[in-house]
Amino acid sequence: DLLGKTAIVTGSTSGIGLGLARGFAAANANVILNGFGDAAEIEDMRAELDGLGAGQVVHDGADMTQPDEIEALVSGAAERFGGVDIVVNNAGVQTVSPVEDFPKDRWDMIIDINMNSAFHVIRAAVPHMKAAGWGRVINIASAHGLVASPFKSAYVTAKHGVVGLTKTVALEVAEAGITCNAICPGYVLTPLVAKQIPDTAKARGMTEDEVKRDVLLAAQWTKKFVTVEQLAGVALFLCSDAAENITGIALPVDGGWTAA
Ligand code: NAD
Repeated sequence: DLLGKTAIVTGSTSGIGLGLARGFAAANANVILNGFGDAAEIEDMRAELDGLGAGQVVHDGADMTQPDEIEALVSGAAERFGGVDIVVNNAGVQTVSPVEDFPKDRWDMIIDINMNSAFHVIRAAVPHMKAAGWGRVINIASAHGLVASPFKSAYVTAKHGVVGLTKTVALEVAEAGITCNAICPGYVLTPLVAKQIPDTAKARGMTEDEVKRDVLLAAQWTKKFVTVEQLAGVALFLCSDAAENITGIALPVDGGWTAA
């Protein structure tokens, strides 16, 4: 139970982040939703999380490309709730392109959102966690934080960077009661993945069904997509007392992908 604890989940207006936010809400935490979207739809999400048993749920639309907005997200949560206990660095975007054609602005954006934002969140949140003598940093990396796939140079670079950041921070904060871990999901059928199916089909000269079967699930030995509910369960475990001595890991939740 996370009653009285406060969790920030970046990029939680969709997909995995929303699934994790639901998990924290059901565990009675205060939840700070973050991410883009239609205001009315975000209010519906906020109300839904409220109904799951969350302490309080607020939305902060901080843009993960803007360090100032990220700092304000963390300090705002700390002021409102008296601390920041759990941060989940989840916001992420993708572009699929051969490296020689990779749009330079998309490279910068992916590095900013998928990697640099995690640094800015952690930098701002660690002092609050140290003050409380307890904290959980969870970085949503990817199987692509451990292995590569072609045409995803920026994403794979950013996710490998997040795994390095995870290990480094884990060592620095270990004695302060704070753990820092990465979760490395395989494919989850969220809007992020659905959107890249047409581009992957184009890049590989395949149909979209072939991409699902022969690309996305090819390396996922269970032949099943990972679900957001499963990832919420893993995140809650990392927040539990049982996980107090688990730190600095990059935990694959990938149907065996990175075992092969
Ligand atoms: P998604 O597209 O469904 O959701 C992304 C979220 O990030 C949205 O809420 C969006 O509003 C938010 N976001 C995007 N740009 C932002 C910005 N500049 N500032 C603030 N918020 C921003 O994606 P998803 O599939 O749920 O992915 C979530 C995370 O999980 C990403 O880091 C992704 O790399 C990672 N991941 C996804 C998969 C998968 O198969 N879906 C696998 C491994 C890792």
